[in-house]
Amino acid sequence: MAKSPDKLDMLKFVDLGQNYPEKRAPSLRAEDFQEIADKYAPDKAAEQSARCSQCGVPYCSVHCPLHNHIPDWLRLTAEGRLREAYEMSNLTSTMPEICGRICPQDRLCEGNCVIEFSGHGAVTIGAVEKYITDTAWEEGWVEPLQPGRPKDQSVGIIGAGPAGLTAAEYLRVAGYEVHVYDRHDRAGGLLTYGIPGFKLEKHVIMRRVQRLKDGGIQIHENFEVGKDATLEELRGKHDAILIATGVYKAREIQMPGVGAPGVEEALDFLIASNRKSFGDDVPNFDNGRFNAQGKNVVVIGGGDTAMDCVRTSIRQGAKSVKCLYRRDRANMPGSQNEVRNAEEEGVEFVWLSAPRAIEGTDHVTAVRANRMRLGAPDASGRRSPEVEPDSDFTVNADLVIKALGFDAEDLPGLFDSPDLAVTRWGTLRVDHKSMMTNLDGVFAAGDIVRGASLVVWGIRDGRDVTEHMHRFLRAKKAMERVAA
Ligand SMILES: Cc1cc2nc3c(=O)[nH]c(=O)nc-3n(C[C@H](O)[C@H](O)[C@H](O)COP(=O)(O)OP(=O)(O)OC[C@H]3O[C@@H](n4cnc5c(N)ncnc54)[C@H](O)[C@@H]3O)c2cc1C
Ligand code: SF4
Repeated sequence: MAKSPDKLDMLKFVDLGQNYPEKRAPSLRAEDFQEIADKYAPDKAAEQSARCSQCGVPYCSVHCPLHNHIPDWLRLTAEGRLREAYEMSNLTSTMPEICGRICPQDRLCEGNCVIEFSGHGAVTIGAVEKYITDTAWEEGWVEPLQPGRPKDQSVGIIGAGPAGLTAAEYLRVAGYEVHVYDRHDRAGGLLTYGIPGFKLEKHVIMRRVQRLKDGGIQIHENFEVGKDATLEELRGKHDAILIATGVYKAREIQMPGVGAPGVEEALDFLIASNRKSFGDDVPNFDNGRFNAQGKNVVVIGGGDTAMDCVRTSIRQGAKSVKCLYRRDRANMPGSQNEVRNAEEEGVEFVWLSAPRAIEGTDHVTAVRANRMRLGAPDASGRRSPEVEPDSDFTVNADLVIKALGFDAEDLPGLFDSPDLAVTRWGTLRVDHKSMMTNLDGVFAAGDIVRGASLVVWGIRDGRDVTEHMHRFLRAKKAMERVAA
């Protein structure tokens, strides 16, 4: 039986805690943080799984974007048949242990558990999913990737995030030669450089990536499409292309002083922190620019990226961390669980507040803000925030992090493909029946089609697009045979 580590054992895997524990806020100790969901002891996993009523109406599966066979693997776990439970969960997901850690379960599977509806608290589906797949890795049940019978066709995938890697895995299993191009030096997309290690440990992603490489998928890191090759050049090399580049254009905020030193983009801050946890040399962290230690930090925004920034700042030992959001708690886009975690860790939320200017000439010293109130609903049905008259206030700040969300980059411009069709939001326009863009043989999946979304939806899209690409490639081969 696998030993159940105690909480500090768990923290060994937590990047920031591992590399610079002395930088935590002095009032907090390592064990005060709610890090990765505690590892379940086998009896706890079985106990939770046995709570599943096998209700026959699996709302949990319906609301899981992958339609995982949740009641089935819960039953197997309850019966102690862990290997079968793992195999069952692996049937529908390429990254079950990752989803188990970072899916917003309260909005997906667990939020739709009938036991939750009856007021008894949902079965902790995500934690069980994480437990069974982590156990599978420990026990050596995770099989190497077996490429299918070789086909003489190759596929080029731009972007090594969850959508690109999922498609890469399934296409390799189908026997294609698969090349993945990514502009970062490590694969994983936002799993690697966006989501902090206290939610998703880096080794968990890297072992998945290694399995793909060992299975013959060629991952070309430090390869930026648009710089190192154009889209047309890749189309000439491969029989089909998948664009899975995610969305990276940070939304801007217009206000006086926003260009002052000390006002930073969320993703730059998170990438620096994630790189540090890999042990990389990060001059902009070491010189203090992206290090919150000892600083008054103000994070602007109310989504999950903002939550990651406030919680990372706390772990780096910030003097104070405040989150300014223009709506109230009930109307924020981020997960309520994340807000609760952040509050417990010492983050102060300043609801109904919007920044109007940055103070400080050589470096930011404060954020000037207005109190807001919620007015009439806008086109989306959400009540629009309005400025309260004469409601100025000032918050001291040495580091301001802008976390206002992301839009699509200008891919037609970047890829030197002016014909590539986009929507009015800049995301790629696809035929939803085939997931193909307007360019023949060029498919798209993940955030670059949906806009900023979730890992589990990236995996789902990667799974779906494989089928469409496979059909396209078979038809292409058949036509080549006819023409020959
Ligand atoms: C800070 C943060 C925290 C998040 N936390 C969560 C969470 O807890 N749970 C959750 O479910 N979701 C979370 N998300 C959302 C989730 O990470 C994304 O929805 C998901 O990663 C999208 O997958 P993707 O494969 O479409 O794109 P990405 O993961 O963005 O991967 C795209 C890849 O394409 C590469 N790329 C881009 N342009 C080029 C180019 N020109 N040439 C080569 N490569 C290129 C990028 O380097 C990147 O590796 C978070 C997002 C952020 C920003
Ligand atoms: S993939 Fe996400 S939504 Fe689906 S069962 Fe796992 S944790 Fe729940």
